[in-house]
Amino acid sequence: MYDIGAVNYGLLAILLCGAGAALVLGLRDIWRRASAEGSPFAGATALGDIVGRINWRSFLTRGVLLSRLYKRPASGIAHALLFYGALLEIFGHGVYALSFVGVPVYSGRFGYLVMELGRDVGGLAMLLGVVFFLLRRSKPPERLTVGKARRGFVVMETLLLLVIVAGFVAESVRLAQPGITSAGEFVGLAAARWVGQIGAVMHEHSYLVLWWFHGLLGLAFIVLITRTPMSHMLLGPINTALAKRRPGVTIPAIDFDAEEPVLGVEKLADLPFKNRFDFEACLWCGRCHEVCPAAQTGKPLSPKKIMLTCAEYQAQGRTDDASLIDTLGVDALFSCTSCGACVEECPVTNDPAEVILHFRRQLVMGRSEMPDVMASANRNLESRCHPFVGTAANRDDWHRGLEVPRFVPGQTEYLLWIGCSVAYEERAQKIARAMVRILDAAGLSWGILEETRCTGDPAKMMGNELLFVELAQANIEEFQEAKVTKVITMCPHSFNSFSRYYPQLGAQWETVMHSVLIDRLIKGGKLAVKRDALQKIVFHDPCYLARHNGIEAEPRGVVASVGELVEMPRNRENSFCCGGGGGKYWSRETGTARISDVRITEALGTGANKVATSCPICLLMLSSSAAKHSEEPRVFDLAELVSEALQ
Ligand code: SF4
Ligand code: SF4
Repeated sequence: MYDIGAVNYGLLAILLCGAGAALVLGLRDIWRRASAEGSPFAGATALGDIVGRINWRSFLTRGVLLSRLYKRPASGIAHALLFYGALLEIFGHGVYALSFVGVPVYSGRFGYLVMELGRDVGGLAMLLGVVFFLLRRSKPPERLTVGKARRGFVVMETLLLLVIVAGFVAESVRLAQPGITSAGEFVGLAAARWVGQIGAVMHEHSYLVLWWFHGLLGLAFIVLITRTPMSHMLLGPINTALAKRRPGVTIPAIDFDAEEPVLGVEKLADLPFKNRFDFEACLWCGRCHEVCPAAQTGKPLSPKKIMLTCAEYQAQGRTDDASLIDTLGVDALFSCTSCGACVEECPVTNDPAEVILHFRRQLVMGRSEMPDVMASANRNLESRCHPFVGTAANRDDWHRGLEVPRFVPGQTEYLLWIGCSVAYEERAQKIARAMVRILDAAGLSWGILEETRCTGDPAKMMGNELLFVELAQANIEEFQEAKVTKVITMCPHSFNSFSRYYPQLGAQWETVMHSVLIDRLIKGGKLAVKRDALQKIVFHDPCYLARHNGIEAEPRGVVASVGELVEMPRNRENSFCCGGGGGKYWSRETGTARISDVRITEALGTGANKVATSCPICLLMLSSSAAKHSEEPRVFDLAELVSEALQ
């Protein structure tokens, strides 16, 4: 009794092969839709290239361990129940399928573990997970509905619920029969007691009907996966394997030597493959929207809306439609601070920031369209090699009254890179003055160059790649002439450009952030500092330091050596932007609040008496917001705190 029979097994096996083929064809269609043949960016097309660049770490942490999802514990646990439950079910059913061809897996210890217990645990986990998601659909969090809620989830979740329940009902009917025993099917056994007599009187054919009902629903689910939002179950892990190895945002270089260089992107066809696959993998979950400083302060930007608009164009086959850039909106594209919070937060390693920067390039270089303050900064960069329009300071003001050595080729070990904000903003000049005292106290061999210009980071992030390349090449030439091999920078934006983008243009020196060097000097006994335990210092992680470059421990080491370290709720790679990155320092801020006001309120809310940071732009942005709370200076660079504490 209750033998399914070879005919049924055989028929199901054929249908399963058909469903598997539909799944593979669906994946192939998605891959083709995202295919970037003709894109001007390297690595855009060849599958072999992509396979060779698999990011195993990202795949294991985000794709398999679902690391990003646990930031919202309830949703994270529900995802884990569904995901690992599904894996158990796939494995359990795979082993079950072996019984079709006569492999005796449904007996002994192996059968107990895999077939019975494993499948019931997996099914129960999936049941709990899917019930959570269905219940949540009745009152979804704002992030799910902002822009647009994705349709199709409810249907697929209901289908999945039916598959699981039908499986358990069939199991319980089988187990309700006299003489049938099972050690591991604890859900079916419990239900069988409840089903009791109903199950006992059911005819063999009724069980067969239930078995087929469960099987056909399951097959329908498999066929529909790639044609509905449930595709994220597969595309998410695949996309995590395609993630870039370096954290943060990296926008590919433009080939200016090409016959017709593509000055930024205005249509999907020009985007690299990874960006286009991102649109397919995006589940419209809105986590990026929730952490975006622009979206959270009422600016016209939501990274989720950027992704879903691109996804809709792609789904409609409008890959050559240049109206996309206007649909995304010029104001939205220029609201991004390039903070990378969306990239860090996305559970499937999507990169909305890179997409935004591609389009910005087109606005700036292709259409000469950018907000007026940014445009003035750009013009200043072109004519005076720095973006500080109307500054009264000149390049040497910061070291007036100080003995500052010049960099001597072949003799000086470190070049102290001054950068433009430190040179031209009076408040930031104090960072360099403090750094001079620190380097002298540590007895390092260091010097500065007479002529330096901006690294070009503001130009690059505003979208003016051409200007960035010009500035970078001039700097590289000058450094090479001076035989510079080691550079100290006080600015994470400079650090990022020097270490991420300059090597693409031929730079070969080693760059160290001042906070990392100071931490090393203190720990190595080269700098003696006095710790004041009464100083409660909260550290604001600059996006370009923590999130883009993973430098988190060293600045904290420095703070702890001069006072008591206090943390904000959003810290390290989860830091909240100061509002000044991405060229936004040179813009009029709109929206419901200033980003730096939000951040300084969070910082002062910790009860700290000082706010420390390690970036001149953060220092300037946060200082102006802190001034609304108190006339006393409250925001300092790490170098200033250490210089004060030198013994
Ligand atoms: S980009 Fe990532 S975080 Fe944003 S909606 Fe898509 S999947 Fe969610
Ligand atoms: S990089 Fe930052 S500002 Fe730009 S879209 Fe992402 S979260 Fe928003």
